[in-house]
Amino acid sequence: MSTYDDQNIFAKILRGEIPCHKVFENDDAIVFMDIMPQSEGHSLVVPKAASRNLLDADPAVLARVIPVVQKITVAAKTAFQSDGVKVVQFNEAPAGQSVFHLHFHVIPVYEGVPLRP
Ligand code: 5GP
Repeated sequence: MSTYDDQNIFAKILRGEIPCHKVFENDDAIVFMDIMPQSEGHSLVVPKAASRNLLDADPAVLARVIPVVQKITVAAKTAFQSDGVKVVQFNEAPAGQSVFHLHFHVIPVYEGVPLRP
């Protein structure tokens, strides 16, 4: 099984080694804007605890982080006045994961506006 590598880009952001546009933080997670947004308001909810993805995540961490995902989903809908919100999460490269620190995409969706790839 693949192991966690603390040189991944989100670990560096969490340590403050790389800047980000942070929009929320609590004891369990930070939320920052995606550098390549698929739509206006696309953000990433990133747990502070080290795990590659859901496959090795601590359920106790997830129990504290999912309420953050919900809060940001609600904020994405209201702040960006979107018509819907897509929440996406990938596990390992074949599934589309490119940064190997657990994260949840929160992507506002606007009627008639396709998401950018
Ligand atoms: P995934 O691993 O779920 O496929 O996607 C990783 C996401 O992280 C991508 O949407 C990508 O645009 C975003 N990303 C990659 N590097 C950075 C970075 O340095 N800063 C920020 N804010 N987002 C990043």
